[in-house]
Amino acid sequence: AAWPPPLPFMEELWDPLAPVLLLGWMALHALLYLMPVGKVTEGIVLRDGKRLKYPINGFHSLCISTLLLMLFLRLGAHLESLFELFLPLAASAIALSFLLSFYLYIRSFWAPPHDLAVGGNTGNPLYDFFIGRELNPRIGFFDLKYFCELRPGLIGWAVINLGMLMKEVELQGSPSLAMLLVVSFQLLYVADALWNEEAILTTMDIVHDGFGFMLAFGDLAWVPFTYSLQAAYLVKHPQTLSSLQALAIVALKVVGYTIFRRSNSQKNQFRRDPTHPSVSKLETIATATGKRLLVSGWWGLVRHPNYLGDLFMALAWSLPCGFSHLLPYFYVIYFTILLIHREDRDERQCKAKYGLAWDSYCQRVPYRIFPYIY
Ligand code: NDP
Repeated sequence: AAWPPPLPFMEELWDPLAPVLLLGWMALHALLYLMPVGKVTEGIVLRDGKRLKYPINGFHSLCISTLLLMLFLRLGAHLESLFELFLPLAASAIALSFLLSFYLYIRSFWAPPHDLAVGGNTGNPLYDFFIGRELNPRIGFFDLKYFCELRPGLIGWAVINLGMLMKEVELQGSPSLAMLLVVSFQLLYVADALWNEEAILTTMDIVHDGFGFMLAFGDLAWVPFTYSLQAAYLVKHPQTLSSLQALAIVALKVVGYTIFRRSNSQKNQFRRDPTHPSVSKLETIATATGKRLLVSGWWGLVRHPNYLGDLFMALAWSLPCGFSHLLPYFYVIYFTILLIHREDRDERQCKAKYGLAWDSYCQRVPYRIFPYIY
């Protein structure tokens, strides 16, 4: 309940090593993105009838980054220094996301009209800069939004967590159970996203949202530096967990992960190939666009079962940090607000797209995220 400490001084936000590490990290992932391994897949059909090609090698990038990290550790690199570099790195990532957003905003004025995102062209420069004007900005085959969505920020988050774990080992002599749970839960989330990289091609971020400050800042600064707050908190606030508490938290994570993964995979499979045996028997309703909506299976439980599973997991990441401070719960609170807002945004888009068919889906499946509650 203590009043937050004063904001850090400007000097604490700057360390010349931070931009060097950040740019090196971005360059490494750009190279890994371009390496000719993994398959190349096509995204959904765009307004001009074309489909863009995307490399599916994010999981390879994670594995190669891990090997490189192990090599650096053997050569004597001090990953625990990430604890001290946390603020300068975050400041550099914020600066980079502003620079990238200005570049994206300016280049969008040369994009043909059918390449612009429907929601990002209001004519209000501030709004359009924030939301993003161009849907799929690319430099040749290099898709800037797709690249930023999962790779540097998400893998960076896992590396920061590892740095926090090593700092804890330096201070306490061994990693705590709480830290091991947080770091392994979040590593599973990162690895899962990259293993199922193809599924991102049917999500709102790729399909509807332009690439502007919201996603650039979210991907490069917000995700790695706020999602790692639980691990950062545990460094200075060690927690002891009983086996029973740990088991209950693991059970919550497993339930959340199962709902999250199965529902996302079901919808992705259905959108990619509705005749696939795993989804062909599910009940659906027709819409005027020719696309169908699932009304049974996971998508018959609530209208966004994937958000429900994600929120269970978010809680499981916070609980190992105990109840003495609000900070480790920042993620689950912010994420609940984000997903409620996101769900509403998606519903409005679906209502505009599917009209009466969406109304019948809402009648058949009355709850949005939490069964019998919301
Ligand atoms: P979704 O994957 O939920 O996609 C929404 C789209 O799915 C709709 O626009 C619609 O598109 C389609 N859809 C909706 N209902 C049905 C139905 N009944 N049958 C078939 N298709 C349907 O969107 P998100 O991108 O928001 O989420 C993807 C995942 O990413 C989620 O698990 C979410 O929790 C997670 N996420 C995590 C974040 C984080 O920071 N950790 C941030 C944001 C998301 P259409 O009909 O056009 O195919």
